Amino acid sequence: MNNAIALRGISKMYGPVPALRPTDLSVETGEFLTLLGPSGSGKTTLLNLIAGATGPTTGVILLDGRDITRMPPRERGIGMVFQNYALMPHMTVFENVAYPLRARHSPSKTIRAKVMEALERVGLRGFEDRKPRQLSGGQQQRVGIARCIVYSPAIIMMDEPLGALDKNLREQMQGEIKRLHKELGTTFIYVTHDQEEALNMSDRICLMSTGAIAQLGTPDELYFQPSNRFVAEFIGESNLISGRMEGDSRMAIAGNRSVAIPGGRASGGAELLVMVRPERVRLCSIDEPINDAVNVLSGEIAGSSFVGGMTRVTVQTENGLKLTAKMISGRIESRPVPGARVQVCWSPSDMVVLEK
Ligand code: ADP
Ligand code: MG
Repeated sequence: MNNAIALRGISKMYGPVPALRPTDLSVETGEFLTLLGPSGSGKTTLLNLIAGATGPTTGVILLDGRDITRMPPRERGIGMVFQNYALMPHMTVFENVAYPLRARHSPSKTIRAKVMEALERVGLRGFEDRKPRQLSGGQQQRVGIARCIVYSPAIIMMDEPLGALDKNLREQMQGEIKRLHKELGTTFIYVTHDQEEALNMSDRICLMSTGAIAQLGTPDELYFQPSNRFVAEFIGESNLISGRMEGDSRMAIAGNRSVAIPGGRASGGAELLVMVRPERVRLCSIDEPINDAVNVLSGEIAGSSFVGGMTRVTVQTENGLKLTAKMISGRIESRPVPGARVQVCWSPSDMVVLEK
């Protein structure tokens, strides 16, 4: 069996509210899968169902092919790391990390060796005797991680573990968690609402919206081939253009204009929504001759914002669209000025047809 976890038609109702709609999901052995989505989309509910902290309304959960739907949480061998650390404040670091082993009645010699090894892995050797309140947030979460890995669970789940940390520390800890995943080779199910964290860390991302999977795929697939509007707008920035197919490779858009789109995606007359990423949109001066193979619209710069390495420019086109282009920043004298007339162009191959 190659699936560490398989969910079949799993759902959870709280009264009339579906926290999770009937969902199928397979997590492969050894993979780093991230549940990504806005607050309230059902991420924690899905983790709690896998962990056994709550029971499903419908469906079956398989762990390595065995039905664990009704198995008590402790017997599942699934480790959990929480956003708020959930450490025991009156216990030392050593005792916090030793806790799962004591609960499993491991011999004390084994406990000592395993706790020290876990602390070593998270860079906390020498902190055994401290209490949680004598540690920074990042160190407390390292204790939380050590307590999870100490008994070698078959699956490690983390629910927004870096949510309480500031940006620099978060990025550093992302790297450490990835390293840990590689060293341990364990299946990880990771929850975040931060798309950059998900793109950076995951083998696959399961993007959730209102209790259902919006798209499941690699970071590349979600970014370059979003299947619907929600995914296109949640991951990165996007320009959305709606229109109607004329033949099989042109689309009529606002203001009696038309643009070329990749062929074979839809037939004549179909109403479509297509997306192009801002970094694939190029600005050219109004008199620059444009190659026929490229889509071009003329317009006026509506706004320009300098965000360090990148500059984001919005263009109001003559046919009534507002498009965003993103480019590597130049010095201020070379940046587009609001009111200036420009052409915006992009290649048809950079357009993605979304499900309507
Ligand atoms: P996320 O972790 O993505 O923020 P949750 O899984 O916590 O989302 O919640 C999904 C939905 O289920 C939300 O609408 C939330 O209000 C609801 N919900 C979660 N837990 C409970 C509960 N114990 N009782 C009632 N509603 C709940
Ligand atoms: Mg949550």
